[in-house]
Amino acid sequence: MSLFKQPKIRTRFAPSPTGYLHVGSLRTALYSYLFAKQKKGKFILRIEDTDQTRAVNGAVENLLQALTWAGLTVDEGIIEKNGKTAEKGRFGPYKQSERLKIYQKYAQKLLKTGQAYYCFCSPSRLETLRHQQEQVKQPTRYDGHCRHLSEEEINQKLKTNQSRVIRMKVPENQTLEFTDGVRGQLTFNTKDIDDQILIKSDGYPTYHLASVVDDHLMGISHIIRGEEWLSSTPKHILLYLALAWPVPNFVHLPLLLNPDKSKLSKRQGDVAVEDYRRQGYLPEALINFVALLGWNPGTDQELFSLAELIEKFNLNKINKSGAIFDLKKLDWMNSQYLKKIAPARFAELAKPFLQKRFPQFDFNNQQIPLAEILALEQTRISRLDQLGTETEFFFNAELTYPPELLIWKKSSAAATRKNLTLLTERLVNCPETDWTIAKLEEQIKQLITANNLTNGELLWPMRVALTGQAKSPPPFEVAMILGPERTLKRLTIASKKLAE
Ligand code: GLU
Repeated sequence: MSLFKQPKIRTRFAPSPTGYLHVGSLRTALYSYLFAKQKKGKFILRIEDTDQTRAVNGAVENLLQALTWAGLTVDEGIIEKNGKTAEKGRFGPYKQSERLKIYQKYAQKLLKTGQAYYCFCSPSRLETLRHQQEQVKQPTRYDGHCRHLSEEEINQKLKTNQSRVIRMKVPENQTLEFTDGVRGQLTFNTKDIDDQILIKSDGYPTYHLASVVDDHLMGISHIIRGEEWLSSTPKHILLYLALAWPVPNFVHLPLLLNPDKSKLSKRQGDVAVEDYRRQGYLPEALINFVALLGWNPGTDQELFSLAELIEKFNLNKINKSGAIFDLKKLDWMNSQYLKKIAPARFAELAKPFLQKRFPQFDFNNQQIPLAEILALEQTRISRLDQLGTETEFFFNAELTYPPELLIWKKSSAAATRKNLTLLTERLVNCPETDWTIAKLEEQIKQLITANNLTNGELLWPMRVALTGQAKSPPPFEVAMILGPERTLKRLTIASKKLAE
């Protein structure tokens, strides 16, 4: 045991409440969570809601619901308590909109030490400036117009309450270095950094000031976030230095890409965790999938429980290159998890999907052989929302399919009809006690051999007659679930279709 106190690991997930949890943000939250848990540290949820123009009702609740569903428990910050949002921890408030005074205090401090200044430039001046810079193909940035106003001028403008912002006085031409957990050592020069706004004209802080102040005051040791924030990091480092605060560790995660390597976006598919939940992905499958977007343990293992991820995750082994969001892989993973869960849990998860698809049935009614139907499907589907189509044959009274579908390969309508008749005759005489999967299979296989048929010549039309589909669970199982009456009726209908 070390004699010295180890620095506490504290990570945070700091979403802006946009109304939904993006799967990319789920990965950011997951990596922050895994690292904190592995190091016996704390995982904190802070809400970055300083952009009042983007406020969405119920957004924080949705976020928490999605995190809870995914199994990521927040240790500190905004938490869910009895279905409502609450706060936990000594460093609150954890919503930035409730911390405005704190940001003002540090902005004032920076003004006092000459590391920030008031800027009174009007939006139209800034617009003209931007326009001019664009025309001569210069980077668009503030030109420092208010950097050197005299104290008198400033006081005069403040007295008359002129609209203003507070900007950071970025030091001129300094080289700084920092080490990113993924990209390694990075160097930047302050001449490339704009005098960023710290406090906006409405008195709210910008993201830069608020996140630096909060990460410091909340004792965050590792800032794990998406690569899109990498360009903000030099600005943040300057703020840490200006405030004489220690610089935390930064880890910028690679982008998530569509299979065509474009940035994962709403246009190409679903991006909200809620969308995946609605389609019937299990939280453990989505978490497993997302964990491997940008990290892998270096072995062949692909399936990990959350506990295993906590154990094996390695923050030092995150890839630099973008990670492809491959839905086929997610489907495969989900099917693996669906196969493994207990039938009782499968039934609980399946019921709402079935109820929605077949509202005319009551799925809590014991008369539906739900356990048998689900036992057939549990190993076949890769998403719960496929259950509706997969089980239609059972719930729909009439099947619609083209008669040709009944005909096996090179067989003919007449031969298929004849085989269906043979089958019907055999099953009509089958005593109710023999209506089990094993006995049905035995009898039908005998029938095939006795009549010199191939399996396909009899089992194919049987499958289509009973399910209306080319792909279905084995026909014996289907016949067993349908029972003698419905089975025989469907075989008769199929024969008739072929005669038409
Ligand atoms: N509020 C930012 C977001 O919406 C957080 C960026 C960060 O983690 O610093 O993603």
